[in-house]
Amino acid sequence: MTLSYGRSYLAIPGPTVVPDRVLAAMHRASPNIYEGPLVEMVPGLIADLKALARTKGDLAIYIGNGHAAWEASLANVIGPGDRVLVLASGAFGHGWGAVAERMGARVEVMDFGTRAPLDPEAVAARLAQDRAGNGGGEIVAVLAVHVDTSTGIRADIAALRAAMDRAGHGALLMVDCIASLGCERFEMDAWGVDVALAASQKGLMCPPGLAYVFFGAKAAARRAEAGCASPYWDWVPRAAPAHFYQYFAGTAPVHLLMGQREALDMIAEEGGMEAVSARHEKLARALWAACAAWGWGGALAINAPEGARSHAVTALSLPAPEATELRQWCEEKAGVTLGIGLGMAPPDDPAWHGYFRLGHMGHVNAHMLLGALGAMEAGMQALGIAHGTGALEAAAGVVAEA
Ligand SMILES: *Cc1c(COP(=O)(O)O)cnc(C)c1O
Repeated sequence: MTLSYGRSYLAIPGPTVVPDRVLAAMHRASPNIYEGPLVEMVPGLIADLKALARTKGDLAIYIGNGHAAWEASLANVIGPGDRVLVLASGAFGHGWGAVAERMGARVEVMDFGTRAPLDPEAVAARLAQDRAGNGGGEIVAVLAVHVDTSTGIRADIAALRAAMDRAGHGALLMVDCIASLGCERFEMDAWGVDVALAASQKGLMCPPGLAYVFFGAKAAARRAEAGCASPYWDWVPRAAPAHFYQYFAGTAPVHLLMGQREALDMIAEEGGMEAVSARHEKLARALWAACAAWGWGGALAINAPEGARSHAVTALSLPAPEATELRQWCEEKAGVTLGIGLGMAPPDDPAWHGYFRLGHMGHVNAHMLLGALGAMEAGMQALGIAHGTGALEAAAGVVAEA
């Protein structure tokens, strides 16, 4: 028997649940792309996205996913042979670094493993050494991931900036906030971030297809000096177009823009990013409380250490192959799709079946999270997976707090 008939829930960390309102906003005939409502709407959309990232800098929008944002950001400021320092706490840090390498950069990875956030002091020490070395410093940019979606680890970007400043190093700070923008607190200007990347299909509650690159004055100056941007990736005409088509280097992604407009309206109606990040934090704490209770009587464990846990995605483990069995049970029997583990073990290693993830980013409320937790509890009971009691009660207790 299956109890999966009913509304299914995709609880993976991207793409996320697209609100019905966003889907409805896209269910329209194509608008004119030369004049009229769409053309009038885009400047306000850009202003609202910049406000969401807390920046007075510029924004370039690309038709693309997160990988496009990676490439777009690098294409403007990193030329062949430039040295970049990549800080990795999971697969996405390594992924961005691999793109930089393919683009001809000299990439140095500081690997903090899969269970620890980046260490600002270690970065400061490496930068101080670079500054003291040949030519007074070769590293052009530091690449960091705010929330690594594979490990659920969140980096302290403000502390990283402070450490870079202490080292007196002039490298750009480039931050992937694809998993965190629209979910967690992110302060581009206050935290001294020079380039920030986002994409539409995670906290921003849209289908995949819009890639966002925010950049400040220092990055703009570097772009002018480097002179390496190819026509499609060049952020200058996209951020300051003389003609509407230049925002997108061609036809605008019309329906995605209409969807993104609606999603931003929903964020504003909820009370802006303060309210949205408070909701994500509360739901994350409810999830952690459940996981702690399960863990007391079993092996279920949260990957990220306390203090460095994302409010948008949680990576979990169970003895292999129980993680895969639980995922399959939840999908087939209860209509909840949990995320696969990523970057924790090679896919052909039996250990791979010991990892899974829960996405709790974007359009998620208390009953969705509690429903997913209830399905997991039922799955552990059905499969005979050892687990502690009281998990649902613990999660409900967090939700019930004032
Ligand atoms: C999802 C994600 C990406 C990649 O995005 P795609 O749209 O799959 O290309 C990159 N970085 C982070 C942190 C992500 O969560």
